[in-house]
Amino acid sequence: MVVGPAAAVPASSRSARPSRIRQEEVRTHVGHVPQRTCIGCREVVGQDRLVRLSLVAGEQEPVVVPDPARRLGGRGAWLHPSRECADRALRRRAFNRAFRRSVPIQDEALLIEQILQGDRDGSTSTTAAVRTAAGR
Ligand SMILES: [Zn+2]
Repeated sequence: MVVGPAAAVPASSRSARPSRIRQEEVRTHVGHVPQRTCIGCREVVGQDRLVRLSLVAGEQEPVVVPDPARRLGGRGAWLHPSRECADRALRRRAFNRAFRRSVPIQDEALLIEQILQGDRDGSTSTTAAVRTAAGR
């Protein structure tokens, strides 16, 4: 796989569809915490208990990265920060369904680690994750 600067968090994907993010927030912002479905165990819980995953453009293929700051645009997938849920999601190809396209997972172990850390770190981890996932 070719390594290139284009793998960094694309400003294009963030600014391309800002209206869609807002729409999603408004639509689900009923009551206090919006409810989301974990794509691993299918439990519906408040989104503050889940890690958001986003699909960003990689060098050749899209890459799944944690989006703890919830700033990446586009469609999101939600997952408990637990190894079990991450594993289940991978086994069931739930990412393909969540993103409505075929999502190549190049390094499952790495992705699981990122998911487990996803609820702790700030925005810097997302950039690092994109680099790690796309830049090897
Ligand atoms: Zn779960």
